[in-house]
Amino acid sequence: MLRIGLTGGVASGKTTVAKLFADAGVVVLDTDVIAREVVEPGEPALAALVEALGDEILGTDGRLDRALLRRRLFGDEALRRTVESILHPAILAELGRQSADAGGSYQLLVIPLLVESDLAGIVDRVLVVDCPVERQIERLMQRDGETREGAEAMLAAQVSRKIRLAAADDVIVNDGTIADLAARVAGLDCKYRDLAGKH
Ligand code: ATP
Repeated sequence: MLRIGLTGGVASGKTTVAKLFADAGVVVLDTDVIAREVVEPGEPALAALVEALGDEILGTDGRLDRALLRRRLFGDEALRRTVESILHPAILAELGRQSADAGGSYQLLVIPLLVESDLAGIVDRVLVVDCPVERQIERLMQRDGETREGAEAMLAAQVSRKIRLAAADDVIVNDGTIADLAARVAGLDCKYRDLAGKH
């Protein structure tokens, strides 16, 4: 199975690109969705998080309080590494299971933190959605109601465009209309179907 890892900066257009591939019949698996599934009540990764962080990270409904976890992790690198050492293997295992079940001629795995994390090993190629920083800021302000300062801070907290692009096998530039993007996705889809045949 040829697995393409789709990544990109915040609000670069990953979800939009993934949807265009899905519309073309490509199997798309999203690690953000899987990251939520592996911490559902009863899952071993949630029990491991409670063991490491205490049961105050659970809401009154017994579910992980994601906002509280984010606050606890903010600025605490050691704790972040502990949490990643629990979550990443669980995400990888579940991704592997879903990938094996899903079939398809090739698969697109959406991994927002592909370049930053240890999840890169699961993919054969890296596809980066790239766009000018100013466009990301505009989209964050428009879609999420972020302030310019807030949007700039979110971008500053991520790896730079240059580092992400250095990890790319393919780049999809999202600097035009959705129709432009759809044409670029169609071109890559052809390329990946071809590569999948030789894989
Ligand atoms: P996040 O990092 O927050 O998950 P993302 O990388 O998945 O974001 P999208 O949600 O796909 O990004 O796009 C961000 C916003 O910009 C959305 O509101 C989307 O509809 C819009 N958008 C993306 N690409 C284009 C485009 N080419 N033309 C117009 N709007 C776009």
